[in-house]
Amino acid sequence: MNVRDSEHMIAELNAKEPYELTEELGDADLIIINTCSVREKPVSKLFSEIGVFNKYKKESAKIGVTGCTASHLGKEIIKRAPAVDFVLGARNISKITKVLEEKHAVEIDINHDDSSYAFGEYRTNPFKSMVNISMGCDKSCTYCIVPATRGDEVSIPSDLIVSEIAKAVKTGAKEVMLLGQNVNNYGKHFTANDEKLNFTGLLQKISKIEGLERIRFTSPHPLHMDDEFLEEFANNPKICKQIHVPLQSGSTSLLKAMRRGYSKEWFLNRCEKIRKLCPEATISTDIIVGFPGESEEDFEDTMDVLEKVRFEQLFSFKYSPRPHTAAAEFEEQIPNEIAGARLTKLQARHTEILDEVMDAQMGRVHKVYFDELKAGGKVSGRSDDGKLFFVEGSEELLGEIVPVKVTKVSRGALEGVVCN
Ligand code: SAH
Ligand code: SF4
Repeated sequence: MNVRDSEHMIAELNAKEPYELTEELGDADLIIINTCSVREKPVSKLFSEIGVFNKYKKESAKIGVTGCTASHLGKEIIKRAPAVDFVLGARNISKITKVLEEKHAVEIDINHDDSSYAFGEYRTNPFKSMVNISMGCDKSCTYCIVPATRGDEVSIPSDLIVSEIAKAVKTGAKEVMLLGQNVNNYGKHFTANDEKLNFTGLLQKISKIEGLERIRFTSPHPLHMDDEFLEEFANNPKICKQIHVPLQSGSTSLLKAMRRGYSKEWFLNRCEKIRKLCPEATISTDIIVGFPGESEEDFEDTMDVLEKVRFEQLFSFKYSPRPHTAAAEFEEQIPNEIAGARLTKLQARHTEILDEVMDAQMGRVHKVYFDELKAGGKVSGRSDDGKLFFVEGSEELLGEIVPVKVTKVSRGALEGVVCN
């Protein structure tokens, strides 16, 4: 979502006067640090980074802090780091050109603002586009700062989404990534709009866009994974067979304390249904270990879900207490060594599973969409189910979807040859 927000800011800036991206700090006229605040570590890095940028930048260059940390620290950032020229919250990025004009501007309102729907034309990768379908989040997971930094959930009108995707397709994007904190809750929170479409309806509508060949989305919420949605996922040939099902914890009592709204059984049932309807699909997940009150037994429940679902991809984190969240005040915070040991155990077991998954790919054929030229005469792309591929080749493969046979496997990526 932050990558998309960065694209949006670049587009807004370019609409006013053309900017060029530079790898050289000393050449930059404008330095934007687009931040995340979901866990504490990136927040603490922010101030040391501001110091480094301030030391090596051109004298006249401006520094802006944007994104979720901007939303939750606001003018505190300028107090602590006066070198910062402006602070722009995650929900205010469409105001990027406005804040450039005022010294020490701070825009951090999290209320609904239609101007953030106005997507720009800038894309990091010309072959793929990202499009927001909703903003904010209306859930109250007790560990999560996102509702406080990105505001309430609002669904973006489907006609606007469709026209943005169609525009991207015309300029070479065959794939779209639909973005939202809870994409499959789409349609619950339109503002001045009497639209009745839900996420399944939106997927069907988007599938009709001519020239669009691949649809991805992130993140869906396990609670809203009804049968209708899973059937659409499995049967719609344009939807890539890769789905993120964020578990957080395998323990029903911890899920309750997290206020996730589902149980271990519901989660397992949804994953079984995905495996049954769509055996070729890959499932990824997010897991937090060391949430307040997590017992050995709770953690074993998480390990049990890992064993049963065998997620192809795992994003795992140690619980990080965040301001504006209920869990930060919970008693029974888990000591760092215990959380660390659990994370190591979880990741080690997942690595074994991943090795088995990847080894089984040898000799298989996947349709790969190539989108990046790499060093050494290689081109990279992703299979329908999200695996990273490298093959020998050049520009003519870019923007093409071609069958590739796997000839070499490793944990992170596959190598192969194009089949004719
Ligand atoms: N809307 C998405 C999550 C967005 S935040 C969802 O509900 O799945 C991305 C991930 O960061 C979460 O899935 C969670 O695993 C992790 N996360 C959020 N808050 C955290 C915290 N306080 N400590 C550790 N991990 C956290
Ligand atoms: Fe955070 Fe929960 Fe909303 Fe995801 S659903 S963004 S974890 S509050």
